[in-house]
Amino acid sequence: MATAIVTGASRGIGAAIARELAARGHDVVVNCSGSIDKAEAVAAACREQGVRALAMAWDVSDFAACQTAVRQIRDELDAPTILVNNAGITADGLLLRMKEEQFDRVLQVNLKGAFNMMQACASVMVRARTGRIINLSSVAGVMGNAGQVNYAASKAGIIGMTKSAAKELGARGITVNAIAPGFIATDMTDALPAEVRERAERQIALGRFGRPEEIAALAGFLASDGAGYITGQVIVADGGLG
Ligand code: NAD
Repeated sequence: MATAIVTGASRGIGAAIARELAARGHDVVVNCSGSIDKAEAVAAACREQGVRALAMAWDVSDFAACQTAVRQIRDELDAPTILVNNAGITADGLLLRMKEEQFDRVLQVNLKGAFNMMQACASVMVRARTGRIINLSSVAGVMGNAGQVNYAASKAGIIGMTKSAAKELGARGITVNAIAPGFIATDMTDALPAEVRERAERQIALGRFGRPEEIAALAGFLASDGAGYITGQVIVADGGLG
């Protein structure tokens, strides 16, 4: 079984993915940026599955911090051969009113953060001659979304980065895929105005928001041996939105 890093795993989709990977027998690093208590609780739930789990705080937008974290994980657990780039933020606003900092911060965390972690882990995976990288994109990155030019740009960037890294790393036995969720019930979508959520529900064929566990199940599969011939793909899980 492997050692997995899940970024932004103190809550929401990341927490569900950490629990899913633990249930599949992998040791898990539960990364968070702030509330280590919540990450500790997720790590404790992972340990109940009989695996090792560490809660670790670092900011994925900090290149040096990512390098240091991966070195520490290699020393304390094992070489990480599963990476789930899940950490993400929104700072919504219409193009005409968006502040420069709003654009920059979302790109720094969502896109640069994933680059930082892929670069820190890829060298370890190349040496191990195996690896699974799973990047969280979004339907916003595929279709666009009013009020989210920053977020959609970051999530479209994730797709280009995923496809390019898949081509670079395939010969080394490393797969790189993206998941593009639609609306999933987490703190991130709880922040949306009620009318936006109701309008979204009407556009979803299944008539409801997804559950974090439904994205986690897909991530668990992509991390498994069974997904060994899937790479460079963007798998949309949106309940039939659009
Ligand atoms: P969330 O806001 O509930 O959780 C995000 C997590 O990322 C938190 O644990 C937060 O602490 C962490 N994080 C934020 N900035 C960080 C940083 N700089 N360094 C490390 N960790 C950081 O979000 P969620 O809804 O669970 O979404 C998870 C991922 O899925 C995100 O990438 C998001 O863009 C993507 N996504 C979510 C939805 C949805 O509907 N919820 C849809 C499409 C894509």
